[in-house]
Formats: sequence, structure tokens, C-alpha cells
Amino acid sequence: MRPLPRRTLTKSNAQFQRAVKKLPLGVSSTFRYWGDDRTIYVDHGKGGRTWDIDGNNYVDYRLGYGPAILGYADDRVDAAARRGMEVGGVFALSTERELIVAERISKMVPAAELVRFSNSGTEAVMAALRLARAYTGRESYLLVEGGYHGLFDAAMWMSNMDEWELGSNRDPDLVPYGKGIPHTIKKLAHITPMNDFERLEDMFRKHGDSFAAMLIEPIQGNCCSIMASPDYVKLARELCTKYGVMLIIDEVKSGFRVGKSGIQGVLGVTPDITTFAKAVGNGYPISVVAGREDVMRMFRYGGASHGGTYTAHSVSLAAAEECLRILDETPALETLANYGERLMAGMSEILNARGIVHSYSGHPSMFGLFFAETPPDNYRAWKTSDYSFYDKMAYFLHDLGIIVEPDSREPWFMCEAHGLDATCLTDTLKAVEAAVDLTLDHFEAEAKRA
Ligand code: PMP
Repeated sequence: MRPLPRRTLTKSNAQFQRAVKKLPLGVSSTFRYWGDDRTIYVDHGKGGRTWDIDGNNYVDYRLGYGPAILGYADDRVDAAARRGMEVGGVFALSTERELIVAERISKMVPAAELVRFSNSGTEAVMAALRLARAYTGRESYLLVEGGYHGLFDAAMWMSNMDEWELGSNRDPDLVPYGKGIPHTIKKLAHITPMNDFERLEDMFRKHGDSFAAMLIEPIQGNCCSIMASPDYVKLARELCTKYGVMLIIDEVKSGFRVGKSGIQGVLGVTPDITTFAKAVGNGYPISVVAGREDVMRMFRYGGASHGGTYTAHSVSLAAAEECLRILDETPALETLANYGERLMAGMSEILNARGIVHSYSGHPSMFGLFFAETPPDNYRAWKTSDYSFYDKMAYFLHDLGIIVEPDSREPWFMCEAHGLDATCLTDTLKAVEAAVDLTLDHFEAEAKRA
């Protein structure tokens, strides 16, 4: 047995004990709680790395769930944000920069004929669904299993895969993400398994006339980066057109990351409405709802409501202007995708040397790692992978200076800074090798005990 890695978390642990008295679970978002003695508090981030308050340094592949597309505290974007600060914040009036950023978005994403800004992914998708309902005069909507679209009530429905048995011919139950979500909404929500063509056609045949929208994340940023096949999204496009349903492609995670025009550009499918958030401003809070002109014009007096006190805040907007300029005009996206390729190849070498069957899904800029021969093509197939191996490996990686999500359903995110700092790759691969061996030891010891 190899010795377990040691990491000092004395200060984080003490901070947790103080924080939990004031903040539920000691954090500001439930997913930041990693246990009483493993919740870490950040001192700062720079490039592809994060430092906690104990001085531990991590190569970070969560990147705040994706926003830091260039890297933390990017000098170019931060300088722009400072210029935005001088503008004065929010005025309940518009500034000229809104048009500049909107034009950049339309140039990069052809489906974004018209653009509105919001502050978070949740707000943007909420606006998109409202817009679809306003345009179609319908209320129900279709979700895809494994997708996540934010914290508003209509989006907080999922297939209960934890209590679903692999191979079962019964569908998993549609359940709310947690308490406090009104059950009355359930009758409006429908859900279908990704990449199942027949089920999709059947769903539209039965309910298509009542759908305002179909929401899809063609690369599931909250479910191992499972990919929709291009033909599946094309079928969704055809069916939406046929039944007068708004196709909403949610690119909150994939947008300005997997390509300049997002996953819709990669797949060659044009949505009616689309949403962006994370990578837009390299971490400054800004999101986008965009789409077809006649649909977007529903945002008007007497039409669909949209707005918000902090919408198009001068700091976020200036950050977005610079971040999108960099993504559009420089090879940043190639740099980070290339880094992702090298990281996957390096990890495969380590895993292959130990005979560990694995595969990747998604895109090199945001990929899922699976301990199964082929990557799953929908959420149900995720159950075929050995996610307990992943979970344990992630646990060791934290101790070894690598931040990945403890849950295998969250992909690994790359940033430009990873690709520009050679030590990120070497440090990561060293840690992965050690974590894999420790995980093997762990399961071997468990097997002996059993
Ligand atoms: N849609 C997708 C695809 C997301 O990944 C997320 C967040 N992970 C959201 C919507 C909600 O975004 P936010 O957390 O910024 O509200």
C-alpha cells in the first residue's frame, strides 16, 4: 500500500467552523460544500490555478463550472473590467457598449440575430423559455434527460437516475431537484432520453402541439459532456419546425468554448433561441439570450417581460467585450482545446499502462472521463460506467493538487492559461498517475476486506 497523500487544510477547516455558524453549510452555493473537513476556501486564482487559504496550490479543471475560459484573473479582461468600472455600474439606462458586444455575438453566432443581456445562466434560460411561451402562446415544454438549465422552478425537473435500475424497461421518474419546487409545474414538463430518435418523434406526435419549447444542451455540461448526435439535434430541429415549437439550444456551458459559434456551429443546427453565460465575460457575471429576430422582438411592452436592475452592468459588459474579442480574434480556443487533447492523451497513457478501460466524451475543451469502453450517449448509459472509481480518484486528486468535480457527472474544463503554462500538464499527469494507483490500492483493499 502506498502512503496516502497529505494536504494541510487547517485554515480551511477553521474557516468552515466559523462560516457554518452564519452561512448554511458554510458556503454560498450548496455544491461548494465538500464535507466538514474537506471544504476549501479560496485565497486567489491566477491562470489555470487556484490557491486555498492554507497555501495549497491546485491546477483547476472546474474553473468555476466553466467561466474562466482564459484563466483566472486574466490581465486583459481585468483591465477592461476596470475601464468598465469607470463608467459607473448600472443606470436603468443603456450604454453604447451593449451594441458593440451584441454585434460581436451576432458575428460569432449566426443564430443570434438579436441579443439581450442577463446576469446568469438561470436568468437567460428563464427569459428564453418565457420568450418561447410568449411567442407560441403555449405553456408546456420538453427537456432532455441529463440536461440542466438553471435554478428556476420550470427547469428544476430531472429523471431520477439514482433510483432507476440499469436495463429497466420503465422510464425513470420525473422528480424535482429538491424541495420547494411546486408540483403543479410538473404537468407542464416533459422529458425524453437523449439520442433516442423514436422516443423523440413519439413525444412530438403525442404532445408537440402543446409545447412552447424544447430545451437541449447538445453537449451536456452537467452530465459528463454526453453528446447529442448531429442527426438527433437535426431531428429536433425538424420536429420543432413542424410543430411550431421553439428550439432552445442552451449553450450556457458550451458557448464560446467548444467553438466560436458554440456547439450549434459544430453541429450545424440553428436554434430559434439560444443562451450563453459562463465564458462570455471570463467570470464576470453576464449572460445572453439571443435568437431569431421575429421571436426576439417579443421582448417589448405588452410582450414578454425582460430586464433586471443589474442587466448589462458596465463592468461585466466591458469584460465581455474584451473576452469575446480575444476568443474571436486570437487562437485562444485552439490553445485550450489542444491542451485538452494532450491531457486526454496523457491520462490514457497512464490508464492504458494499468489496463484500465476508459473513454472520453464531449469536446477537448470540456470532456467527461468514463471508466467504460465506450462513452455513454445518454444519461441512462452513464450507469454503465464505473463512476465509483472516478469518485475515489477525484478524492485523491484533490489531495494531490488537482481540482476536479467530486462527481463524475461534471466535465473537466480547460482554459487558455492551462495551455500556456507547461507546468499545468506535467503537474496534472503526475497527480493523475498517483491518484489512479491510490484508487487501485483502495479498491484492492476493499475487495480483500469483503
Ligand atoms: N444552463 C446550463 C447548461 C448550465 O450549465 C447552467 C449552470 N451550470 C445554467 C443553465 C445555469 O446557470 P447559472 O448557474 O449561471 O445560473
